[in-house]
Amino acid sequence: MKKEYAVIGLGRFGGSICRELSSEGMEVLAIDIDEDKVNEYKEIASHAVIADSTDETVLRELGIRNIDHVIVAIGDNIQASLLTTLMLEELGVKKITVKAQNDYHEKILSKIGADHVVHPERDMGKRIAHNIISNNILDYIELSDDHSVVEVKAGAKMRDKTLVDLDIRAQYGCNVVAIKRGKEIFVSPRATEVIHENDVLIVIGADKDISRFEKNLVVEED
Ligand code: ADP
Repeated sequence: MKKEYAVIGLGRFGGSICRELSSEGMEVLAIDIDEDKVNEYKEIASHAVIADSTDETVLRELGIRNIDHVIVAIGDNIQASLLTTLMLEELGVKKITVKAQNDYHEKILSKIGADHVVHPERDMGKRIAHNIISNNILDYIELSDDHSVVEVKAGAKMRDKTLVDLDIRAQYGCNVVAIKRGKEIFVSPRATEVIHENDVLIVIGADKDISRFEKNLVVEED
């Protein structure tokens, strides 16, 4: 059976999730309290309904408990976001992803049963900041409060050297988990692998170690 999704709140974030899931051929129920928003998604989502997600009766009538994954993308109204999440949890929705507005909101969401809390503005800010520090830092993904994965372009300091030469694990405490070379990807590369120009390294480690690795091997002087 095809998985079913519901997106509650069709602002920029929820709307974008709704469009993307729909374009991937997924069944999406789009919900918003605002009629204009709902009309905008009538042709995009499988179903689009005007509803207040803080009304438990409405959620029941929509059969929300049978939906596999519900995304709560209510923006500024933190109270409505929390109440909606709590009710979805009580109604037995299997998977709930919620957009948090700030750290306090995130903390409460995790406590009341959100399976996954996303903080798109903060996370995107961090990713862009790393890319601003160096064009060679292509992406930055936070794994936990103190561990991340970075995707970096092999700088001049790495070219034509092997992983043994660079001694990344011992020097910086980070691990190169994969090397992308054109269309190829080497997962768990051998220590003797020579790094080519334009290679992209995927590196995992503690933030403080990644930061040292970036400063010493990735960022290049202008
Ligand atoms: P973004 O920052 O992602 O653009 P917005 O705050 O603009 O977020 O959008 C949030 C959406 O959530 C709005 O379209 C708003 O109408 C909708 N919304 C707010 N409260 C409720 C609610 N109780 N039930 C359903 N939708 C809601």
